[in-house]
This record gives sequence, C-alpha cells and structure tokens, in this order.
Amino acid sequence: MNTECECRQLIHTPRRIALTGGPGAGKTAVLDVIRRSFCRHVLVLPEAASILFQGGFPRHDTAAGREGAQRAIFRVQDELERIALEEQEAAVILCDRGTVDGLAYSSAPRDSFWTSVGTNHQAELSRYVAIVHLRTPAGAQGYDRSNPVRRESAQEAAILDARVLDVWSEHPKRSIIAAEESFAQKVEATLEAVRSELPRCCRSHAPDRPSTRDCA
Ligand SMILES: [Zn+2]
Ligand SMILES: [Zn+2]
Repeated sequence: MNTECECRQLIHTPRRIALTGGPGAGKTAVLDVIRRSFCRHVLVLPEAASILFQGGFPRHDTAAGREGAQRAIFRVQDELERIALEEQEAAVILCDRGTVDGLAYSSAPRDSFWTSVGTNHQAELSRYVAIVHLRTPAGAQGYDRSNPVRRESAQEAAILDARVLDVWSEHPKRSIIAAEESFAQKVEATLEAVRSELPRCCRSHAPDRPSTRDCA
C-alpha cells in the first residue's frame, strides 16, 4: 500500500503504545508488518534489550548482573522514547516492550526497582496510552528460539509471559492476544491499537480505513 502521508502538520504530540509479551510470541514479526503499514508518523522503536545485548552488554547470571542489566535497559528505553517525544515528528510511537517489562525480568521488589531508576509504578504505566500483549505459545504450539538474543526454554518463556502479564495488570487499556490466535490476528490487533491512537491529520493513510482527506 501507499504509505506516503499527506499530513502537513510539522509537529505532533506523540502517543506511546507498548507491544509486549513473553519471549517467542511473534512480536518482532508483527512489528515488521506494522513498520510497513503506516505513514512516517508512526514510529516503531527498536527493542532496548536487543540493542544492549547485541552490542555486547555483559549478561551475568548473578543478582547484581541481572538488576544492572534491567536498569541499563530502562535507561536506554527511556532515552529512545524521550528522543521521539522531543522530536515531535511521530504521532504514534510504538515501543518494542515498555519500561514496565523490566519488573518481569528483575528479582528486586517492585518499588525498590523503581526507586533504583528514580521513578514509580504509576508514572511508568502512564507513559503508554495502550498496551498490546502477545501471549507466548506453549512448547507444543511452536515456541520459536530462532532469535539469537533469546536464551529461555519454552517453560521459562511461559513463566516470563505470565510475569509480564502481571506487571502490566494495572494498566487501564490492554489488549491481550491469546497464543492460539493466528499471526494475522496478532497483526490486526496491533494495527487496530495504532489506528485508534492516530490523530485525524494522519488517518487518510491508516490501513483499511476509508480515506478522510481532512488533513489540517
Ligand atoms: Zn502521517
Ligand atoms: Zn498528522
């Protein structure tokens, strides 16, 4: 489809959506589709953990190592979002996981984790206007270990998925997509989340929506 945007707004007030879920739920493949489906005002951020671990950030299997890695991921995520907010070009920022995911991977109690990075749970939940959670398939349903950064077994992945579900549980607007759903349904749920947050000025190029052409 044509994703050239006719929006002439020089700035937008970006709204953030977090796409999350346990390992192997198909997040990366969904994001590849989303990236090609909207105009340039829908920005898909890279995953902070992948930036760090593919860049050689050490993975120590100690409490200090795990907590330090989660603080580093938080800080990278915070800056990725901040740059996009300050640039004001994007209307929707789709985040490959959000800051709250760190709690699921940390063994520190919730409040002490947030204190260690200078924030609190409510402030972190309220970064995102909506959450899309793709559930991790159980082993037999084809848990995918092809991602080189992934180290979990299918069982560990299922536990992480449940933890991720739990840490976001107080968010007021979540779409939870069952592992049994098809890839197309996962894509559609994510497309719909983005569409519903797109401002009017950018909607003429939202996929599967009639053209409104009432750009400011
Ligand atoms: Zn646009
Ligand atoms: Zn626009």
